[in-house]
Amino acid sequence: MKKMEQKTITLEKIPCLDLKGQHRQIKQEVFDAFEKVYESTAFSGGSFVEQFEKDFTAYTEAKYAVGVNNGTTALHLAILALGIGPGDEVIVPADTFIATAWGVSHAGATPVFVDCTADTWQIDIYQIESRITPRTKAVIGVHLYGQPFDIEGVQSLCKKHGLWMIEDAAQAQGARYKGKPIGTFGEMACFSFYPGKNLGACGEAGGITTQSENYYKHLQSLRNHGSTVRYYHDEIGYNYRMGGLEGASLSVKLKYLEGWNNRRRAIAKRYLNEVSNPKIKMQHQPEWADSVFHLFVVTTDNREDMIKFLNEKEIYPALHYPVSCHLQKAYNHLGYQAGDCPNAEYLAAHCLSLPMYAELTDEQVERVITALNEY
Ligand SMILES: *Cc1c(COP(=O)(O)O)cnc(C)c1O
Repeated sequence: MKKMEQKTITLEKIPCLDLKGQHRQIKQEVFDAFEKVYESTAFSGGSFVEQFEKDFTAYTEAKYAVGVNNGTTALHLAILALGIGPGDEVIVPADTFIATAWGVSHAGATPVFVDCTADTWQIDIYQIESRITPRTKAVIGVHLYGQPFDIEGVQSLCKKHGLWMIEDAAQAQGARYKGKPIGTFGEMACFSFYPGKNLGACGEAGGITTQSENYYKHLQSLRNHGSTVRYYHDEIGYNYRMGGLEGASLSVKLKYLEGWNNRRRAIAKRYLNEVSNPKIKMQHQPEWADSVFHLFVVTTDNREDMIKFLNEKEIYPALHYPVSCHLQKAYNHLGYQAGDCPNAEYLAAHCLSLPMYAELTDEQVERVITALNEY
């Protein structure tokens, strides 16, 4: 008797993030924009960056936007524009991408790490007060994974203690807090347009929004060698300008951002509603926070085991982030110990990021949900 032919079904891999679909979709439009930059040779700063700054102020409803070369330099310049430097302290959540703290360190000041809450995983406002000293100058709140932090909570603490609030909005382009776009609440808000962010340039880029003309002018000078009139340098500045190709690609992509964010919201809604496995915990979504789900992070007791299970089904989660900032080797000299920020440490040890990008198909989302519920 003839043996039945075995059919092998090869499952298509589902990564945590795939940028190819988005770029295929807008390729011609971006290439046309690149051609214009090329023809005009406006490669560094210039009209395409200015156009994007205009577009981005309209989008965020901020008064001013300053384009820079990445999100880390955006944070560095925000700290400098506030006059923060050696001897000063800035409060930073322990659970974030490390660059939130880099700007503080690059300016010669000291980041002071504060734990996150056990449910929203955002900076815990009840932990902030105990870390304030006479040297504290500012608090950087992070809209982590695309979800606005407790802005009014942090704002009222800052007001009470005479501190500045900065928003690290690198992961949250388009998110809203109580109906209002993030990026307008702090003294300044810092954005990253790294390719993997919700709004990412074709290259490296970042930006700062502010409501203050003074900060705006100072930031423009700081990013451009401390100069407003060419070859006259009023202070020691930086070369942190945004490139023209990056600016042009961002203006094209900004038009699609709301649609992409809405698709992320729809995928997140399915994860939130349809993943019913009690072994999996998700970030609590407060009703005032309209997240743009840059990442969809969950926790589980035995992460390695769950990753293995998912990998067998060709699903590849990532880790954001496996080490809390206060325990990074780079900050050994600050003397933090394991146990100083227990919620952030728990998250670092148990988090994994599910596939999340606008081009995920309904079938792929279904496969992820089914796998999670089977685990
Ligand atoms: C990406 C990111 C940054 C840094 O942005 P780059 O453009 O990569 O320098 C800062 N903070 C947070 C929270 C980020 O996710």
